[in-house]
Amino acid sequence: MPVRTKLRKRGLDVDPLCPWCGIEEESIPHVLLECFCIRRVWFAVLGVHVTGATSFHASVLQILEGVGAEMVARFFTTVYAIWEARNACVFEDRELSIGAIMDRVRALEAFPRPTVLPRSSIHTGVATWNRPAAGWIKVNFDASVRRSMAGFGMVARDEEGMILAAVTLASVMMQSAGLAEALCLRWVMSLALELGFFNVCFETDSLQLFQWWRIRSRGCSYLDLIISDCRSLVSSFTLMDLLFVRRSGNTAADFLARGASSFAVWIEEGPPGLDTFVASDALASMPA
Ligand SMILES: [Zn+2]
Repeated sequence: MPVRTKLRKRGLDVDPLCPWCGIEEESIPHVLLECFCIRRVWFAVLGVHVTGATSFHASVLQILEGVGAEMVARFFTTVYAIWEARNACVFEDRELSIGAIMDRVRALEAFPRPTVLPRSSIHTGVATWNRPAAGWIKVNFDASVRRSMAGFGMVARDEEGMILAAVTLASVMMQSAGLAEALCLRWVMSLALELGFFNVCFETDSLQLFQWWRIRSRGCSYLDLIISDCRSLVSSFTLMDLLFVRRSGNTAADFLARGASSFAVWIEEGPPGLDTFVASDALASMPA
């Protein structure tokens, strides 16, 4: 890329300084990642604080380590938008606008791209409840939002389909169903640990939550922070997994969430009415 330090190396008589900050020399890592004028873009887009690295290559490896395909795509889309803005600044004398760069990233991202999950794995979401494998506890959970009030419900069952615990929680003001599902996951993970469940497969009927979990997003929204809280709890379990089931397989948790009016705990039983759902799940999942 014809940044100013490279042009000078080749004998061109150009100003070596960064067109944005005018303080440091314009190298590839500087203008695309490290210039303080541009760091806000990186924080807003990927939630990363760019620190000085030895090379652009090293920085890219550092930023993209362990992130999913979606974030890798977003990273390079952002690099492209920054370079476009740099050229507009150098050749058309346009001022740097962080907002314009972010709008450009969003516009480029609106083009059709491969979906995050292959369609087949979305459809693997089974329609009925399944018993956990031997030694595992299955925790179904759900959040229900009505008139900005959220109800959380969870039911833990063993490999026989018997209730180990059922818990409800009523919560105040919830901005969105997505946020409620993420908060519910964090709640249910902490709760499982308090109840002494260490080999747990959690099961949600929120495809959105399941995908957030799978994407390994490193954004900086409130939601990303909740998901990252959840990840930090993973190491407290011996074995932990998050599964997706269709709504028809999560009716017991849905029943608890809808009826949640306070914090309530039942051990080895549930509130009146839960039996019906649990019995039908146990029947449907009877080993052949
Ligand atoms: Zn600069």
